[in-house]
Amino acid sequence: MPKMIEAENLFNHLLPALHEVCARLAGAVSQPADFADFDVHVRREMLHLGEVVAGAMLAQGLPSLRGRERAPACATCKKTMTFKQMRPMELRTCLTGVPQTVQSPYWQCRDCHRGEMGLRLLMNLQRDGMTQELRELAAIAGANAPFGEASEKLLGRMAGLTMSADKVHGICQETGNELMPKMESGQLGKARQLRKDEVLYVLGDGGMLQHDGGWKEAKLFIVFPSMSRAEVSRDRRQLTERQVIATMKSADKCGPMLWDAVRKWLPKDQHGNEIIKGNVVFLSDGSEWLNGLCEEWLPGARKILDWYHVSEHVAETAGVLFAMETDDSEAFEWREHKMELLRNGAVSEALGELLIETNRPGVGAEGKDKLRNLHGYLAKRRAQIDYPAARSRGLDIGSGVIESGVGHVMQQRMKRSGIRWSHAGSPPMLALRAAWRCEPAVALRAA
Ligand SMILES: [Zn+2]
Repeated sequence: MPKMIEAENLFNHLLPALHEVCARLAGAVSQPADFADFDVHVRREMLHLGEVVAGAMLAQGLPSLRGRERAPACATCKKTMTFKQMRPMELRTCLTGVPQTVQSPYWQCRDCHRGEMGLRLLMNLQRDGMTQELRELAAIAGANAPFGEASEKLLGRMAGLTMSADKVHGICQETGNELMPKMESGQLGKARQLRKDEVLYVLGDGGMLQHDGGWKEAKLFIVFPSMSRAEVSRDRRQLTERQVIATMKSADKCGPMLWDAVRKWLPKDQHGNEIIKGNVVFLSDGSEWLNGLCEEWLPGARKILDWYHVSEHVAETAGVLFAMETDDSEAFEWREHKMELLRNGAVSEALGELLIETNRPGVGAEGKDKLRNLHGYLAKRRAQIDYPAARSRGLDIGSGVIESGVGHVMQQRMKRSGIRWSHAGSPPMLALRAAWRCEPAVALRAA
């Protein structure tokens, strides 16, 4: 088969452009002080030159695609299409993002008159003429920073790409909407069978997001196997496998989504049913909707009250009790003492102390309230705070994993001050954030 693009032709085509680039670079760096930023000039020119290379490759390669044997099938009626002519179209690549006009074969169906740009089919382009990679870079930037910042700083400054904030916004919305059904059917991220002696952790949590009409709770689930942690450095471990679900849907809609993600990991009994007991550990703050969801959809899972949430609750109580003190070491000691009791399984003792403290003279009304509240919270979830038993089995008690889950999935991008979400905007952004947090990495693009 003859080459579609001849290296020698390409080279000859590029020589004049290269010559111009060299002249501009020589002009830009003409005195010693210019060396401070010479790499900026070189990069800008190389991206420009890259655009010229891309244009030349397409100009050489595309006309050869108009032969009858390359004719695409009509998407409407499946008939083979006919070549009509070469037609100009706009293409934006990940080199600069600036629209370039290229000549693409134009095909038409004789029966239904549907027309197609050959290049659009080849590169799976949408109406905006942006390549898949350019759109993915925009989705990554928009998933990690507010759209204006994503456009100016991440895409513009860091990648040398030109794209408006509105365009980044639009791409994030579209990509998120495309990823959502995948996420909701447990297809986002990879699943494998649990290994021997391995358990599957399921973390559930909620987080409030500010919407046009007030606050609304987003729901978050993270699924990961116990043997998925890689040592990043001496005291930092990182998950190498993780599935994330983040949604605005109601609690009753979350059960099926979560089950679809979890079931793929589980071994089956002789009847082909997934075995949950002994294989699934459910970590949460023990709120009713999460406990209910676990009982309904993951019956037999070991429920553990996530350590981070408990310590937050205890710290909050300490904050109120010792609010008047100028020195907060008392609050610190009180908190540490309570957490120590819980860590060692002395739950009765901790509960007893809380009751006694409620009736201690000098404790204000708010303090009494907080103490009663904490007592109720722990007493009601006693079965979920058997930390010694969990630790003796080598189980994670959630010291920070959920928190970093909410932090990484929602907090960082979606809970910045002044950011409000529309009801149409938050679900796709949550899906995009969930996809971004999956390990191994998931492509932030349409399938
Ligand atoms: Zn047709």
